[in-house]
Amino acid sequence: EVKQKSKNNYMIFDKQFENVSLERRIIENTMRKGLKEHQFFLEYQPKFNIQNNQLVGVEALVRWNHPDLGEIPPAKFISLAEETGLIVSLGEWIIRESCKQGKEWQDKGFGSFIVAVNVSMRQLESPDFVQKVEQILNETGFDPKLLEFELTESVLADLSSIIPVLKRLRELGIHISVDDFGTGYSSLSYIKHLPVDTLKVDASFIKDIHNNEESKAIFKAIVNIADTIGLKVIAEGIEMEAHVDALLNGGCTIGQGFFYSRPLKKEEFEEFIQSSGFMSSK
Ligand code: C2E
Ligand code: MG
Ligand code: MG
Ligand code: MG
Repeated sequence: EVKQKSKNNYMIFDKQFENVSLERRIIENTMRKGLKEHQFFLEYQPKFNIQNNQLVGVEALVRWNHPDLGEIPPAKFISLAEETGLIVSLGEWIIRESCKQGKEWQDKGFGSFIVAVNVSMRQLESPDFVQKVEQILNETGFDPKLLEFELTESVLADLSSIIPVLKRLRELGIHISVDDFGTGYSSLSYIKHLPVDTLKVDASFIKDIHNNEESKAIFKAIVNIADTIGLKVIAEGIEMEAHVDALLNGGCTIGQGFFYSRPLKKEEFEEFIQSSGFMSSK
């Protein structure tokens, strides 16, 4: 009986393992084609001033509408895209699409809000990145002052090659923020050397900020240090009113999360912005 059970478990495990690597192989092998055939699209999560509930921006988040696998979240393909190098062309498409969309919203009178785009270190390291960004800005006519790049550091990047790139991007007027701050390699000693504007504090610090004194203290410390070195702080993963209260108490005024809105399709965002009267407030 026990033997039988463990044998079955083993087989189930084996099958799942096989499926995982099969899915990974399919993803890896169809990404390039998917990019060429316009299977990727963006969703936009609103960012708010949590003090007065004004919309301050959106974060563009990529999704993949796969012909066989259905909608695939970025967690399943971004790191693969980074490994294969496809993130450079996928990322270029994401920046162009975000700028086009931002310009369209501005032209429609939706107001001047920031469009934040996630950018991988791999993209910053590609030799003509800044030139490509300039080209996209010229092509789309989007105001670089309304563009923000959110950097994630899952891999410790070579600072000496990244710093000049960040400086040039900031000279163009683009905001730079460090995503998922407090996780991975984004320590304060690392940040000290980076020409950036904003720390985006990771959702794991927000999760229990309302009922955990330690989290509260850590968050306040981050805000204090950010203030001292002239950086702004934004919170991600706000899921409840109690988070908002704790964040305001901790000195943070900008944030995003399911409490305000999940990431929205372009049309959903337009409905959201029209129905909530953000247009007229500008
Ligand atoms: P991220 O940049 O830290 O984005 C935040 C993630 O948290 C998003 O997941 C968002 O949908 C989710 N989220 C937003 N509010 C809440 C909340 O209140 N609670 C919880 N639990 N989650 C919330 P998503 O869209 O699946 O993206 C995951 C990660 O994939 C992103 O994390 C980012 O690192 C990466 N990513 C997404 N789009 C892009 C992209 O266009 N380029 C690159 N390079 N990476 C991307
Ligand atoms: Mg982000
Ligand atoms: Mg983040
Ligand atoms: Mg995060």
